[in-house]
Amino acid sequence: MRLSVGDKPNPHERLPAPHPGHKQDQHQDSHDAKDGSLHGPIIPQSGKSQKGRSLERCYLIPEFQRVVLESLRQPIETGEAVVARANAHVRYPARFQLVAAMNPCRCGYLSDAAQACSRAPKCAGEYQSRISGPLFDRIDLHVEVPGVLATDLALPPPAEGSAEVAARVARARDIQRERFDGMPARTNAEAEGELLDRIAKPEAAGLKLLTEAAERMRLSARGYSRVLRVARTIADLAGSTQVQRPHIAEALSYRRLSLQN
Ligand SMILES: [Zn+2]
Repeated sequence: MRLSVGDKPNPHERLPAPHPGHKQDQHQDSHDAKDGSLHGPIIPQSGKSQKGRSLERCYLIPEFQRVVLESLRQPIETGEAVVARANAHVRYPARFQLVAAMNPCRCGYLSDAAQACSRAPKCAGEYQSRISGPLFDRIDLHVEVPGVLATDLALPPPAEGSAEVAARVARARDIQRERFDGMPARTNAEAEGELLDRIAKPEAAGLKLLTEAAERMRLSARGYSRVLRVARTIADLAGSTQVQRPHIAEALSYRRLSLQN
């Protein structure tokens, strides 16, 4: 994660209260911070500002120390990181896109019929339990990627190539630029509260599906909002002004995976 250290920090400034319905972070207990902030030996006050968004990749995310992973929860949620010192709390912009990957278990063969994991299900339980439920809940898209077989390599390329997808993404970004013109939020990812409810209000059939699925899948308030945000973006990618049932259904499909703890 990159933190901006170019802005003049206000030592008395604190993080804003979380959006109603979002449970306050509890991760501080695990690393002796009393207010959800990161601790360290000095107060950084100079350096080059990096206000842009960044992409952070974590391969084999369970291999990171749990305390490090848990400290990601607050910046993922608020787009800010707080550094705590003896007499000061300094907050920095820390909005980033996290892309994380993991194997299903330590040996990686949990779902491989040919080389079945000999320690299943314990192997998977131990490995996956390193990712906490609250951190997993903050990740919008959970996608299971099966191994590539030799026969897959002989398949024709997909009809939609990278250039076409990039153009579709650029169009969706343009839609969002117009939507948030003059507002503090710049993208769907930054919309929350009433603004999110307004821009992502699904049509009746979509709302019914979301309400029923939220109950069945026991979605948290955070998970519910994240499904709405993702559905809004899926609708933008499809060029649809309204969030419809198929957009909600696709967004829900990205939250089907659960950890074996
Ligand atoms: Zn295994």
